Amino acid sequence: MTGESIMAEIIDGKKIAAEIKGRIKEEAGRLTAEGHQPGLAAVLVGDNPASVIYVRNKRKACEEVGIYSEEHRLPDSTTQADLKKLIARLNFDPRIHGILIQLPLPKPIDTDKILLEVSPEKDVDGLHPYNIGRLTMGSPLFVPCTPAGVMAMLDYHKIPMEGRRAVIIGRSRLVGRPVSLLLMHRNATITVCHSRTRDIPSVCREGDILVAAMGRPRFVTADMVKEGAAVIDVGINRLADGSLVGDVDFDAVSKKAGWITPVPGGVGPMTIAMLLKNTLESAKRSRP
Ligand code: NAP
Repeated sequence: MTGESIMAEIIDGKKIAAEIKGRIKEEAGRLTAEGHQPGLAAVLVGDNPASVIYVRNKRKACEEVGIYSEEHRLPDSTTQADLKKLIARLNFDPRIHGILIQLPLPKPIDTDKILLEVSPEKDVDGLHPYNIGRLTMGSPLFVPCTPAGVMAMLDYHKIPMEGRRAVIIGRSRLVGRPVSLLLMHRNATITVCHSRTRDIPSVCREGDILVAAMGRPRFVTADMVKEGAAVIDVGINRLADGSLVGDVDFDAVSKKAGWITPVPGGVGPMTIAMLLKNTLESAKRSRP
């Protein structure tokens, strides 16, 4: 059989996320009945249009599954001290089990220092150094949402990881790095590519699993993909015509890959589902 005749199985993030959200709704309902409704606080500084939409979608998702949510929208002029005060309050608020600091924060604010203020027990994005350490050790408290979504998709389709070669393009703290750790913990052999990697196409061709998380529209072309590979496209890129595309050339790569995620409707919905899951888990852990 030639590569041209293979049609990849589509990993439908929307459908998988809906199933996960259904289970979260049931559990959140049970907790609420016990007087312990899970709660998420989203903190948004400034009015970055993309961030405004992301926060709105996250809150909408909370509503759908019966998670209490509140939004703290602060002006661009917010100081480091003001933001710290708000986080301290949320850390002690018993209604709140997850605190989400929407990134990026405006320039004068020191993001690393702010992330340190969030209680590791409420750090549903998994960005506190304590949680990064736990993830590195292989015993995470919270797995960062997008990487958790990637793993959930691979698991849903029972895509083999143990002993397989996994290539990740991107080494960011938010996506590439945690994805590579999670795949390593599942006994894949990992290679992480970044902007200084030489000959990315030949590295990519070795991947039984290829995760593209670089933010370059349609960078991954069919000639970079091993036949039958599982291709997970994390990228979200808006083109000049307003359309949304991933880091993978979906039309061409779907003829060669074994599995592929679409954009939109792939990793994006999974990220939100994992945020809800982390909030629920946090609420369960904090039950008296
Ligand atoms: P980021 O912080 O900008 O990191 C991008 C990574 O890709 C860096 O490690 C960078 O290498 C690497 N890279 C960039 N250009 C490259 C090139 N030409 N060749 C090889 N490597 C290259 O981005 P991010 O936050 O990880 O996000 C990545 C993409 O995922 C973006 O499109 C973002 O919008 C999307 N995203 C989607 C979701 C979702 O829910 N679906 C969530 C988060 C992010 P260096 O380290 O060498 O600079």
